Amino acid sequence: MSKDVCILKLIDVCKSFHNVKVLDGINLEISKGSITGIVGPSGGGKSTLLRCIQGLETIDSGKIEKNGRTGFMFQDFQLFPHMTVLDNLIFAPCIKNKSQREQHIQNAMQILQELGIEKKSHSYPNTLSGGQKQRVALARSLMMNPDILLCDEPTSGLDQSTSDEVASLLKSINNDTGVTILIASHDLDFLKQISQRIIPMTLVENNSCH
Ligand code: ADP
Ligand code: MG
Repeated sequence: MSKDVCILKLIDVCKSFHNVKVLDGINLEISKGSITGIVGPSGGGKSTLLRCIQGLETIDSGKIEKNGRTGFMFQDFQLFPHMTVLDNLIFAPCIKNKSQREQHIQNAMQILQELGIEKKSHSYPNTLSGGQKQRVALARSLMMNPDILLCDEPTSGLDQSTSDEVASLLKSINNDTGVTILIASHDLDFLKQISQRIIPMTLVENNSCH
C-alpha cells in the first residue's frame, strides 16, 4: 500500500538576504495528509521557508515541487482592519472570480460556522480576541481551498488554552478535509501536540556567503 504520497518536495533550496544565507540547502519531503512541524530559534529561517513555498519570496537555487495549491496563515493574521470578517474572507476569492460573489459568501459562512465564529461575520478585526482573529485568519486561508496549509507561528501571542484550541482546530481540519499542514513554530510543546513529524531548523552557521 503506497500510503505516503509526496505532496511537497524541496530539493537543495537556498536563500540569502543581502549575502546572508538563511536557507542553506534545504531538502524536505512532505507526505499528503500529514501534519509536520518546523521548529527552530527566532531568525532560523522558518518564516522564510514557508514564504518561499508559498511563492512570497523567490529562491536563489534549488527546487520546490508542489502537487497542489498552498494556503498561507500569517503570523500576525494580516486581516484588513477596515473590512468585516466576511469581507476579509471573500476579498481574494472575489478578485479571482467576481461573478461568484454569492457563492463566496455562502462558502465563507460555512467555514466560519465550522470554526465556530459565524456570529462574528459582520464584526471588524479590532473587536475580536487573539484566538478569534486566528480563526478568521485560518478561515481566510481555507477560502482558497488549499491542499497544503502553511501556518506561520499560529500560536504566537495566544495564551495556553487558546493555543490548545488552535491545536485541536488544525487537527480536526486535517482529519476532516485531509489537508496537508506545515507549521512553523518556536513552540515545541505545541508542535508535539499536533505534528506527526517535527523538523528542526537551526541558524545557518557562518552564514555569510561569498
Ligand atoms: P524565523 O521565522 O525562524 O524567525 P525568518 O525566516 O523570519 O526566521 O528570518 C531569518 C533571517 O532572515 C533573519 O535573520 C531575518 O532578519 C532575515 N530576513 C527575513 N526576511 C527578510 C527580508 N525580507 N529581508 C532581509 N532579511 C530578511
Ligand atoms: Mg518567523
